[in-house]
Amino acid sequence: MSSPEDRPTPRMRALKVTRGQIVARGLTNRCANCGEPTLFQPGMHFRINERCANCGLKFDRGDGFFLGPFVINYTVTAACFIVPALLLSVFDVIGRIATFVAVGGCAFVIPILLYRRSWSWWLMAYFYFLPEKLPKNHSDLREDQEE
Ligand SMILES: [Zn+2]
Repeated sequence: MSSPEDRPTPRMRALKVTRGQIVARGLTNRCANCGEPTLFQPGMHFRINERCANCGLKFDRGDGFFLGPFVINYTVTAACFIVPALLLSVFDVIGRIATFVAVGGCAFVIPILLYRRSWSWWLMAYFYFLPEKLPKNHSDLREDQEE
C-alpha cells in the first residue's frame, strides 16, 4: 500500500501537451490544447474566438485576460520600433520629421500587424507556465487523482 507522499504530484507526471508543443503552437497561431488553427474567425482579423471550435479550450479566460496581448503588443512596438527610431533621431541619424513619421506610422501600423501574434504569444506564455490548465493535461490529472 502506498502512502499519499509516495504518489507523484501533478507537476511530476508527464504532460500530454508538453511545453515544447505549447511554444510551437503559440508561434504558429494555433490552439495550445489541440494544435488546430482555431484562434481567430476566418476573415475577422480582430476577433478572437471565445473557445476553440475543435476542443473547446477557452481563449479569453476573463478578468482582464485580454490585457496580456495589449501589453505584449505595446512592449514589442515600443522596444523594437519606437525607441530605436527615437534613438536614431537623438543621434542625428534621421531628421525630426522623418522620426515623427516613422514613430507615428509604427505606433499605428505595428499593433495592427501584431494583433493576432500578440494573442497567440500571450496564450503561449500563459499555458507555458500553467500547462496543467490545458484540458488535455487537466483531464489526465483528474483521471489520476481519482485512483
Ligand atoms: Zn483546440
